[in-house]
Amino acid sequence: MKQENRSGLQVKDFSFAGELGSEGARIRQVGYNHFKIELASPMHGEGCPNRLQFTIRQNAKGNQLRLDVSYNHTNFMRFDEYFCSWSYDKKTWQPIEWEKDFKERPEENTLLFAEFAEDTVYVGHQVPMSYEDVERVVAALSQNTYVEIIDIGQSLEGRNIHRIVISDGKAGAAEHTHYFAQQHPGEHNAQWRMMGMIEWLLSEEAGCFRKNNECHFVLTMSPDAPSRGWYRANTQFHDMNRTYLVSGSDSERQTHEAWLCQRDLEQIAGHSKLMTVWAMHTWGGKVEMLMRESNDMESKYGSWTLLRDAIIAHDQESLCKPLYSVKERPAEIETSWGYGPFAQFGVTSVLCEGSGSIMTKEKNMLSGKTIIQGLADYFAKNAS
Ligand SMILES: [Zn+2]
Repeated sequence: MKQENRSGLQVKDFSFAGELGSEGARIRQVGYNHFKIELASPMHGEGCPNRLQFTIRQNAKGNQLRLDVSYNHTNFMRFDEYFCSWSYDKKTWQPIEWEKDFKERPEENTLLFAEFAEDTVYVGHQVPMSYEDVERVVAALSQNTYVEIIDIGQSLEGRNIHRIVISDGKAGAAEHTHYFAQQHPGEHNAQWRMMGMIEWLLSEEAGCFRKNNECHFVLTMSPDAPSRGWYRANTQFHDMNRTYLVSGSDSERQTHEAWLCQRDLEQIAGHSKLMTVWAMHTWGGKVEMLMRESNDMESKYGSWTLLRDAIIAHDQESLCKPLYSVKERPAEIETSWGYGPFAQFGVTSVLCEGSGSIMTKEKNMLSGKTIIQGLADYFAKNAS
């Protein structure tokens, strides 16, 4: 017979300070397995509330859980635009959705967890990826023949920022170079999209593509954020996708991590045949790709619509909207990473958004595989 856990969960069972944390969050008990959490925002920032992330360190087994979450939103920022995920081992994640639609702007929103089967539970934003996860991924990939790890530098708090290079031989020798990076912390689905690209690139199937193409990935430009639940911003509360300088990287004028990463991208552009730059983000709905295509790419490989169609051809599960061109539109944000490289280097730049409705690691990875396979076809089929 099932043993009921009558003591229920206690405030002391919760921690907001793990690999996936939420700085300043306050919790109080209001009933049996029923708690209220008030989220905080970065101390000096006008920015977004810290995301809901925590660990139940003990005593979860046999308990259900109701969490009513709020944020004192004087600046009208929401905390509940995206789903959360929970896990017993930080590897297998289950999505959990808010009870109310965030568009109705409820003052409080609720998560209802069914009875837990284990004592320790992790909860994170979207399908989360902590700094430590990134370190583990990088360590594992560094063993692969086709991978080189470049250390770009360290964040303001001393965490590593890596670039993962996938190529068939000497970096810089390939016919085309593609660069993918995530600017906004908390937009974790974009990281899993990149993980799907990486997994495919290292497969046998990608052998031909690797011969002529090298791919660079920065899984996060903001490694100080996940343990605090910071969203979109770094330690200095800079919106990380308002940090690009078309005039060139500048340690005085840019926040530290943005300066490191743009300087690094400039080195790539200087030493290799940079062809596409992808700014990897998350907003609601399916994956959405807004492209500014270079004349160089279209004259050698054909219209951008061929790339659009190549991605559609691989999109068996309809995870992506058809890619579209925004080349003729004036830049809405000149300091965004989806625009900056196009203006600075004249290369194709893509703002790769969406996927907020894709609620598993596996599907997010599949969306990345879909895109990279389409990219591979475009460059392979149309090569001279
Ligand atoms: Zn973003």
